[in-house]
Amino acid sequence: KWRIEIQQKQLEQMAYYDPLTGLPNRRFFDKLVKKEFSSMQRHGHESVILILDIDNFKNVNDTYGHPVGDNILRQLAALLENNVRESDTVSRFGGEEFVILMSKTSLEGGYAFAERLRKLIMEKNFVVGSIDLGITSSFGISLLDDVENLEDYYSLADKALYLAKQCGKNRVEIASGSEGIADLGEK
Ligand code: GH3
Ligand code: MG
Ligand code: MG
Repeated sequence: KWRIEIQQKQLEQMAYYDPLTGLPNRRFFDKLVKKEFSSMQRHGHESVILILDIDNFKNVNDTYGHPVGDNILRQLAALLENNVRESDTVSRFGGEEFVILMSKTSLEGGYAFAERLRKLIMEKNFVVGSIDLGITSSFGISLLDDVENLEDYYSLADKALYLAKQCGKNRVEIASGSEGIADLGEK
């Protein structure tokens, strides 16, 4: 019987976690956000969604090779996990893109945290064997409750991320509700 339980655990691990970094994957995150929405409705708090995308990561792979790129993704995942609060959840959405749910957080609080992360990443030496390199990353953040359609919970933050890339990378951009969408649309 314990064998079956172990196998079920393994299946769950495969279904909900990213094998490279060990972080929750998008399937896990989608479910979590659904729960967060109902918790927000019940308690009336704000929560922030943050998307982080490594800048020019293709260059890292092209210069040092894919295994070094993988190693850096793992180091970044650890950095993120070590710096979020207990009530935050870090997820790898695929590629070099990470999404963080910051429960019970204001947009101002989310922005301050994203800036802190941006600097931490910029200042870290990523060491892989004899290679020592630096990376930067761009961020988009939005309030979770600005979102009208549940499935689109990350689309505002994603638009803000797009803007951060357009504006020269290594920066944080905020999307704030429909106002934010209008602003983003004009650019
Ligand atoms: P930008 O600043 O616009 O984000 O540029 P970028 O090069 O980071 O973005 P682009 O989307 O052009 O390339 C993403 C790169 O991420 C290309 C791909 O090889 C790399 N990548 C995605 N997933 C993995 C992975 O699991 N391991 C490694 N090593 N690289 C990955
Ligand atoms: Mg990138
Ligand atoms: Mg990307």
